[in-house]
Amino acid sequence: MSEATDAVVIGAGVIGSAVTLELARNGRRVVCVDKGPAPGAGSTSSSSSIIRFSYSTLDAVLTAWESAAEWHHWSNFLGTDDPDGMARFIRTGMLVLESPGANTAAVLRQWDDIGIGYETLQADDIRQRFPTLDVGRFWPPKLIDDPAFADDPVGEVSAYFEPSSGFIDDPMLAARNLAHAARRHGASFRFHHEVIGIVRHGDRVAGITLADGGTIHAPVVVNVGGPHSGRINKLAGVVEEMRIGHRPLRQEVFAAPAPSGMRLQDGAPIVADLDIGQYFRPQVGETLMVGGAEPECDELEWIDDPDSFDEHPTVERFETTMLRLARRIPGFGVPHRPTGLAALYDVADDWVPIYDVSGLPGYFMACATSGNQFKNAPMAGRFMRALIDASAAGHSHDADPVHVVGPLTGRSINLGAFSRLRIPSATSGTVMG
Ligand SMILES: Cc1cc2nc3c(=O)[nH]c(=O)nc-3n(C[C@H](O)[C@H](O)[C@H](O)COP(=O)(O)OP(=O)(O)OC[C@H]3O[C@@H](n4cnc5c(N)ncnc54)[C@H](O)[C@@H]3O)c2cc1C
Repeated sequence: MSEATDAVVIGAGVIGSAVTLELARNGRRVVCVDKGPAPGAGSTSSSSSIIRFSYSTLDAVLTAWESAAEWHHWSNFLGTDDPDGMARFIRTGMLVLESPGANTAAVLRQWDDIGIGYETLQADDIRQRFPTLDVGRFWPPKLIDDPAFADDPVGEVSAYFEPSSGFIDDPMLAARNLAHAARRHGASFRFHHEVIGIVRHGDRVAGITLADGGTIHAPVVVNVGGPHSGRINKLAGVVEEMRIGHRPLRQEVFAAPAPSGMRLQDGAPIVADLDIGQYFRPQVGETLMVGGAEPECDELEWIDDPDSFDEHPTVERFETTMLRLARRIPGFGVPHRPTGLAALYDVADDWVPIYDVSGLPGYFMACATSGNQFKNAPMAGRFMRALIDASAAGHSHDADPVHVVGPLTGRSINLGAFSRLRIPSATSGTVMG
């Protein structure tokens, strides 16, 4: 079986679906192919879906800020309402507890520049506003078998509170909403179809081959394969020239009972607590979602084969996560059994995503989303369209980076910041949602 279209998008996660929508509503015939059963059923379904702006570079903050405006006006962004329900932005604000090495000055400089409001809080202010939280400084984060784990805190933390952050209540539904909107513009989605080859014609990409023997011919192919995207780049033969590597990293996220004061109905914020090496946020059902922020003492669990990893949370990580949380929230009752999930990030060497062209004309990549790009799906779709349009017009993004102007701020975002050819910077990435 063989067919032809204008563009193939590999992967129907939140970003692949956003790319499909953006290409379809700009007049291309698009086929989005996914080996899974539904939009967002890959790593998107496990996302903590936090929408925040705490990045240290201008392009990263602008991307998140512009995207948040689209999540706020989701129907407008989609151009339709999905009869199966609409994902909702739940605004909670975010409390960032200061810790050494957190790059706070750089983040706040960007916020001041863009006009993102925040308050600086001293320990007494935190105590007053969020009495459930212990304001002790426990830094550095420790493993629970470290003899110093239960030591008294040394001093107290300060913080900043940014009121516009929040989270999306159902990440998989968000991908489904995007796919619904894309279908209205003629895009088609093929589930249970695995891409096993990238077709070339001369020096250009010419389509994909599928495990069932089918071929889809297209002059544009976009790799949005999430944790599988490294494999797909290998199939395309575009890895050699890349200066940024990326690979799957296993993550565990837990649910814990939320004590009074930390529930959604109490107005609890997302808390970025690099002082204990974790983040937590309220969620429906009077629980907290708790994830790790990759402190130095925690071993990173790199995965060779994204089709083969333990999807169950481990008792060891669970205990570490809960006992760390109990330091910050002393009134919290540590549950007896792990409730949570294990899933994969696709992590770049510098924890910054890759939204880019490639050395194979017509082949593009939106990958290495590094556990923090759910929030940016609306702008990621626009970025990929801009790159594809510019390439079609004969422009070399590698020589002269494409810029995208954010509709909210009118500010220009330099897509060179997300190039596969960038020099990795130790400070630009972020390890939290
Ligand atoms: C535990 C966890 C917590 C996170 N928390 C946050 C957060 O709080 N905030 C935030 O902004 N981001 C967060 N992220 C990151 C965010 O969820 C991801 O960046 C985003 O969901 C990636 O979307 P995607 O569309 O690129 O990939 P995916 O959702 O992984 O989709 C890729 C798709 O490609 C398909 N595919 C792969 N290979 C093939 C093939 N060969 N043929 C056909 N189809 C294929 C897969 O089936 C899959 O559906 C988190 C991620 C995880 C795992």
